[in-house]
Amino acid sequence: MKNKLVKLLVAAVFATVTLVVLSISSLAVSLNEGYYYICPSDDISYAIDVCGGSGAEMTYTQLYKRSYNNPAQIFEIKKLSNGWYTIKSKGSGLCLNVEGGSNNNGTRLWMYRDDGTAACHFKFEDCGNGNYRIINRIGNKVIDLDNNRRFNGSRIHMWQSHYGASAKWKFVPHIVDGGVYELEFRNTGVGLNVQFRPQNGIGNIVQDRLNGEDNERWVARYNSRYDAFYFTPLYRSDAALNALYGSAATKGRQVIIHPSNINDTASLWRMEYLNGYVRFRNVAASSLYIDVDSGRTAAGTRINLWTSSAYNQSFTLKLVYDIGVWPVGGNGGTDKNNWPRYSNGSYHSGTDISAPVGTPVLASHSGVVERVKDLGGSSYGKYIIIKSTVKGKTVYIYYAHLNSFAVSVNQTVCAGQQIGTVGSTGNSTGPHLHYEVRNSNMDYGSLSKPTLNPYDYITRR
Ligand SMILES: [Zn+2]
Repeated sequence: MKNKLVKLLVAAVFATVTLVVLSISSLAVSLNEGYYYICPSDDISYAIDVCGGSGAEMTYTQLYKRSYNNPAQIFEIKKLSNGWYTIKSKGSGLCLNVEGGSNNNGTRLWMYRDDGTAACHFKFEDCGNGNYRIINRIGNKVIDLDNNRRFNGSRIHMWQSHYGASAKWKFVPHIVDGGVYELEFRNTGVGLNVQFRPQNGIGNIVQDRLNGEDNERWVARYNSRYDAFYFTPLYRSDAALNALYGSAATKGRQVIIHPSNINDTASLWRMEYLNGYVRFRNVAASSLYIDVDSGRTAAGTRINLWTSSAYNQSFTLKLVYDIGVWPVGGNGGTDKNNWPRYSNGSYHSGTDISAPVGTPVLASHSGVVERVKDLGGSSYGKYIIIKSTVKGKTVYIYYAHLNSFAVSVNQTVCAGQQIGTVGSTGNSTGPHLHYEVRNSNMDYGSLSKPTLNPYDYITRR
């Protein structure tokens, strides 16, 4: 199960913009399925959003300042068997579509339920400069911006434009970033879940699932007044686990999702330690615990309240940290020499990922470029330092032995954005990327232990 969860997380987080040329005569490309931000080509701080976050049908798509962890700005790209793609909002499950079947210049894009119609289907074409344009299957119309405006709330239109800047989009993989932790509460056999369909609304029964769907992730907030926690689904901050819904909590009563209220003791749970696991006791009715019905672990099993202290009341808490994008394009390279201690007591300060000269080097995490420097034939050679926030802390990530630079000092970069190419500059025996993570840009010496293991920050897909 752990592997399955990791695989799913990785799929969501590391969807890279790997290009596969389908044929020599065509510029058609294939994107990996997965979750992306879709940003205008020349301003990655903006992304397509769903208007108002309402998730209602027929909502305008608009441009908004991108903020991490806003699921309405994250889009799932799925390839269809006919070679086209659908683009679906992660926050609402709604599909990008063309208004009312209309297909004229300036037609607005809407979010609709994905009914499988051609109006929902889009093709990606490589603009040849690392950007794409997105063409609707009906009428070959291109997604564009209204009058090139990119301020908050600008509407997205369909136009006949071809390679104008306003029609180009970059795909930036979504990562959990900015120090926001998501706690996953996993039963010793299953995970807490919110019944997703038909509607992920208030009043839904909590169920356990075996897979690693996003709606298994819960944000735990501490209420100091009651010295207790309440749990909200990752994508429903207005809802919390609640034991009392309409009537008093009783043994065997199902736990349901209820509008959260920080002072409502029925939605507060005390955490108790039990043999290395934790269990949650309801504050309003202290004899009640979260449990799984009859110990069954099948997907869809309901979570009940019980008074027993059975094994199946124990949960492991797993902190879902931010995991970076693999820093060598196309998930490539052979990684070795990761952070070992040498016999003389010194350490190799990073990990070495070998790849051919010219292979794109990608920022593993979003951040600001701190340094772009060429040390000539010594040390790191051509290298870049990017200051990023990971796991809530500032780190300095080094990308060394580069062949070329694609960014400059003080530039803001997104995770997954190309920052240079692989080379063999400086003290290097062959083409590779030296990837290193430090607590500060000063604190490393080869005879002292480097501060951070790079593999806590990146994972191969
Ligand atoms: Zn190295």
